[in-house]
Amino acid sequence: MTTKATQSNEPVGRFLGWLGLRHSRGGAPDEGGAPPDGGGPRDRARAARYELAASITSFLVDNDLDVSPANLLLAHGAFSGGNPRLARQIVAQAQTPQGISQQWLNDLDQQEASQPDRVELDRLMTRLETNIEAFHANTKEARSVTSDYGTELEQHVVDLEQLQKTGRIVSSLADLAKVMLDRTRQAEDDMRKSEDEAKALRRSLDRAKRDAELDYLTGLPNRRAFEILLERHYKEARAAVEPLSIAFCDIDEFKKVNDLHGHEAGDRVIKAIADTLARISNDHCHVARHGGEEFVMLFRGLTPSQAAEKLDDAREALADRRLINRKTDEPFGQITFSGGVADVFGYGDTRAALKAADTALYKAKAAGRNRIEIADPA
Ligand code: GH3
Ligand code: MG
Ligand code: MG
Repeated sequence: MTTKATQSNEPVGRFLGWLGLRHSRGGAPDEGGAPPDGGGPRDRARAARYELAASITSFLVDNDLDVSPANLLLAHGAFSGGNPRLARQIVAQAQTPQGISQQWLNDLDQQEASQPDRVELDRLMTRLETNIEAFHANTKEARSVTSDYGTELEQHVVDLEQLQKTGRIVSSLADLAKVMLDRTRQAEDDMRKSEDEAKALRRSLDRAKRDAELDYLTGLPNRRAFEILLERHYKEARAAVEPLSIAFCDIDEFKKVNDLHGHEAGDRVIKAIADTLARISNDHCHVARHGGEEFVMLFRGLTPSQAAEKLDDAREALADRRLINRKTDEPFGQITFSGGVADVFGYGDTRAALKAADTALYKAKAAGRNRIEIADPA
């Protein structure tokens, strides 16, 4: 029978296992009856699914949490490796004396919800974009048809006017054609206006798309924009057989900055560090705000040790500075960050590489902060 004490350590153990660290007090991560592993890829996939489901269940049950859609979503994001930041927050909370409570998880859920729902936004953008394009093409085509038709009609009016001498029927036909011509020109005008509107709409959409990929505080690309960038460089670098490295950076002891100087001052520190990292970015080095006080970077054409060296220069430059709270003139003291670097091609896919970089960052924190660690090979 499982005792209460071992039960409450179990989620922590699973998380530490997930992070590649050994759990000192709990048992092995697969204790508790995982299905037999037959060794084939299908069996392994089944075992992994079983393990994920078991981890989620034990996390919810052992911490007395509701089996609610929100909790399941958060637990899935953390345990599946889909959201390493979330996983780290849960690990950190599990290690505090308060542990994980429903209230704490509700706050976390709110924080996560404030991250823009990019999948839905992308879907809407694509639909709107397709509609605008179709509208633009249709009005343009209709306008050119009307315009051709108008030109022909104009010629008829001239011909009919020359024949006017031949009788009244021809004359009334000429009047009718003139009315038709006026209407056609009017329709042409209206369509030109619609076309201009479609162009203006297109420009607003492009602007909205750009804004949706930018982080409002730092002006850096946000996490979603970075993911798109990462997939693009992953494909390009793989085809060109070029190295590609990725890094996670997290400001050290940032809670203290907020506690001592307030959230607004904290925001200015985040912006200053974003600027420091942006200084080393160029066509081959991209930096984005991953969320909170975490940044993620991509180094095209650099091996992990070259990328770590570059990042370490930025780290050292920042550590040498002394930032001042310009609202109060109080010194912030030394502000530093830690980083973890990984080889994007060393771990199967980009998600696994991100996780490896995150684990290396965790190692840098554990080793005393203000340092850059390179992830162990897979
Ligand atoms: P560590 O060295 O282990 O990283 O310590 P830490 O204090 O930085 O711990 P952690 O990374 O877990 O905490 C980050 C804190 O950053 C928690 C949160 O209140 C704060 N934070 C997250 N986003 C923002 C933000 O946009 N603005 C401000 N001012 N604070 C933020
Ligand atoms: Mg953090
Ligand atoms: Mg931090």
